Amino acid sequence: MAGRALTALSEDEALFRDSVYEFADREIRPLVREMDEHAKIPHPLIEKLFDLGVMGIEIPESYGGAGATFFHAVLAVEALSRVDPSIAVLVDVQNTLVINALLRWGQDEMKRRYLPRLAADAVGAYALSEAGSGSDAFAMAARATERDGQWILSGRKVWITNANEADVFIVFASVNPDAGYRGITAFVVERGTAGFTIGRKEDKLGIRASSTCELLFDDCRVPRASVLGEVGKGYKVAIETLNEGRIGIGAQMIGLADGALAHTIKYTKERRQFGKPIAEFQAVQHQIARAATEIAAARLLVYNAARLRDTRQPFLTEAAMCKIFSSEVAERVTSLAINLFGGYGFVKDYPVEKLYRDAKIGQIYEGTSNLQLQTIAKQLLG
Ligand SMILES: Cc1cc2nc3c(=O)[nH]c(=O)nc-3n(C[C@H](O)[C@H](O)[C@H](O)COP(=O)(O)OP(=O)(O)OC[C@H]3O[C@@H](n4cnc5c(N)ncnc54)[C@H](O)[C@@H]3O)c2cc1C
Repeated sequence: MAGRALTALSEDEALFRDSVYEFADREIRPLVREMDEHAKIPHPLIEKLFDLGVMGIEIPESYGGAGATFFHAVLAVEALSRVDPSIAVLVDVQNTLVINALLRWGQDEMKRRYLPRLAADAVGAYALSEAGSGSDAFAMAARATERDGQWILSGRKVWITNANEADVFIVFASVNPDAGYRGITAFVVERGTAGFTIGRKEDKLGIRASSTCELLFDDCRVPRASVLGEVGKGYKVAIETLNEGRIGIGAQMIGLADGALAHTIKYTKERRQFGKPIAEFQAVQHQIARAATEIAAARLLVYNAARLRDTRQPFLTEAAMCKIFSSEVAERVTSLAINLFGGYGFVKDYPVEKLYRDAKIGQIYEGTSNLQLQTIAKQLLG
């Protein structure tokens, strides 16, 4: 709209973002260190996220969701990440991958079955990666065979976010390895299905409270109606949801960087050396100014990609750019935060040490930085 800042929010968007941030500040901040140490999100906190309305942001009100936009999901992820990127990724996967995929590809019956639960109390997970197939995701070994009107899944997924908390899993497997990516099919599998178990949990560098586990499928039988979208079209489900999902990761990274900068500004005003607050040294001021500028630039990329997505305009390049740039900014800003905290930045007494560790994942999941560059280059060079 003419005359408005590109990052301007509507009244409703600003209220929503502020309410999520206030919740994070009040309910999450006191738990951050303990959750990082114990690598666990307490169940009551997950219940509160459902009560807040951030676990079903795009789900229509008729299914019990908030009936809001993808942009709202981006705002929620950004606001939560300012306090704890681990909680933000739980909300991010729920909204930008799982619910997004079900809304877009789910048949009516499937939507009726899962959307009200996902809005009310069920966490979702999205299982594409395997030990041997990460960036080359469609080289997966997981198989699905049709027998007696059921699909039988076998294989092993790794790195699955929310696996410990989730009840609903979107799982990709090939129904026909000879067909290459055209054999990939998406299934919805419920926790507790015979032949499906949650395996080892990873002990991670960052976002430690977010669970990342392997999933094991051994003769796991699911009904024919568990196919999400069409048989052999799972590659489309994966590509299109991940294209959108990475805007959420961009949001996670700008929120994280913003949180680290806020801690740094406060600290540099308090910490005195050479008889005055270190914030009064011009070298420090310039470093802070540069960090704020980088975050503002990254936010423009993230919001622009999300707005394009919500208005059904092409956003593939913009999403890749927002993810790679935001994750690099997050790494630089959190590194600066540690520098400006000095020795206190290197210990766990202050939150910047954790945010520095958390930032690293932005360059890895939902497509590594090299893969984002590949996407951008392909659009530019053909
Ligand atoms: C904490 C965490 C949570 C995750 N959550 C999920 C989840 O919920 N669901 C899910 O399905 N997956 C998840 N993943 C998996 C994640 O998406 C993969 O780790 C990621 O896609 C990279 O795959 P890889 O680890 O196998 O690395 P690889 O693909 O082996 O890549 C290793 C290196 O090689 C580079 N490389 C690979 N191919 C190329 C190429 N063609 N050109 C240039 N460079 C290349 C990569 O950029 C990278 O630097 C998660 C991972 C982590 C660590």
